[in-house]
Amino acid sequence: LKENNAKRLWHPMAHPAESLASPPDIIVEGEGVEIVDVDGHRLLDAVGGLWNVNLGYSCEPVKKAIAAQLDRLPYYSIFRGTTNDNVIELSEMLAEFFAPDGLSRAFFTSGGSDSVEIALRLARQYHKIRGEAGRVKFLSLKKGYHGTHTLGASVNGNSNFRTQYEPLMPGCFHTPAPYTYRNPFNESDPERLAQLCLAAVEDEIKFQDPSTIAAFIMEPVLGAGGVIPPHKSFMPGLRAICSKYGILLIADEVITAFGRTGSWTGSRHWGVQPDLLCSAKAITNGYFPFGAVMVSDAVAEVFEKDTSGKGAIGSGYTYSGHPVGAAAAIACLKETERLQVATNAASRGDELFAGLQALMTKHGAIGDVRGGEGLMCALELVSDRGSKAPIDKKSIGKVHRVTYEAGVMVRVSGNNIILSPPLIITATDVAKILSALDAGLAAL
Ligand code: PMP
Repeated sequence: LKENNAKRLWHPMAHPAESLASPPDIIVEGEGVEIVDVDGHRLLDAVGGLWNVNLGYSCEPVKKAIAAQLDRLPYYSIFRGTTNDNVIELSEMLAEFFAPDGLSRAFFTSGGSDSVEIALRLARQYHKIRGEAGRVKFLSLKKGYHGTHTLGASVNGNSNFRTQYEPLMPGCFHTPAPYTYRNPFNESDPERLAQLCLAAVEDEIKFQDPSTIAAFIMEPVLGAGGVIPPHKSFMPGLRAICSKYGILLIADEVITAFGRTGSWTGSRHWGVQPDLLCSAKAITNGYFPFGAVMVSDAVAEVFEKDTSGKGAIGSGYTYSGHPVGAAAAIACLKETERLQVATNAASRGDELFAGLQALMTKHGAIGDVRGGEGLMCALELVSDRGSKAPIDKKSIGKVHRVTYEAGVMVRVSGNNIILSPPLIITATDVAKILSALDAGLAAL
């Protein structure tokens, strides 16, 4: 296995030769919040799969629902009128869950990148139907991550995910992220920084000409860019700016939907109603590739009342609304509710964030601790706190490895250590994550 892992398998987001590195290791089992590698090491999975295994690895109702559905109907398309009963039940459930957000229609996809692609397409089409065909541009935040399809890559804020594939979609522009540790304004106060970033958004809109912009897409808490929670005034401010200029606000909640921020969604966490909301990941907890774009009543009506023929949706996937995925999603959402995982995410998230801040007083390599909004946290490691020079790859690899040997899987992204454990973790699990990281950092 180990030899073929290196020889035959190209790992996403890594140089081909990096698959030789250890960790990452070969995972062969999962139980509760733990995973087991090929050598028999048992690890608490503080990555939660890839921000998606909110309910852990032993979710019996989901397994049962999938098995029953595989037996009854493994596949049928939802395509121009054909459909399946599960996906109808799921859309009713989602409409009920998202009613307070004014999001009542669901468009099903096969994952996060698909959800982003669909939302961006729907945004352009919405303006076309309304006779504003010139609204084609997209705005997004630097450091934002929106998946790997061409539209998503075009709005990705991190140039590492764009430049290899250029030219991408023209008309995509990025404004500064509300990232207090490093930002072009040299502003460390979160509230003042939020206002400066909002002013930058408005400047960009005016510079581009508002009548050319279709949508602004943002993650309510930036995830892959290094867990960057904005000040609470940022997303409401962005909502107001978008409304002022007739620009749609797309919330990319592929990570944040279904409890991770301690609220049902990141948008609700900030008290914002987006026009479109992209979800995937935790909707099926890793049991099935699946996603859903939630559409607001107001946007949906524009499509539904269209008589010009422009409202017909020319997007969809073979696996949109897959009946097994829909069965998994129904069971996952029921468990998400029953176990009140969002409430647990808020309490355990506060404990984890406080514990990481305590580690910062002990380990000079920690330049910044981010989190405090549910169970997504990051440690940004530096070689020198004064200059904020990022720690080198070998050293962060050492922290990774020693933390792993201490029984906890974390994720390394650039000079960040990212934590997004299952939302069902206990206070004991939080203590274990902190003590393993303490050991990892002590190895420097
Ligand atoms: N948007 C966000 C915010 C994400 O974090 C991700 C994946 N990490 C995606 C989109 C893409 O999702 P997927 O990998 O399921 O295509």
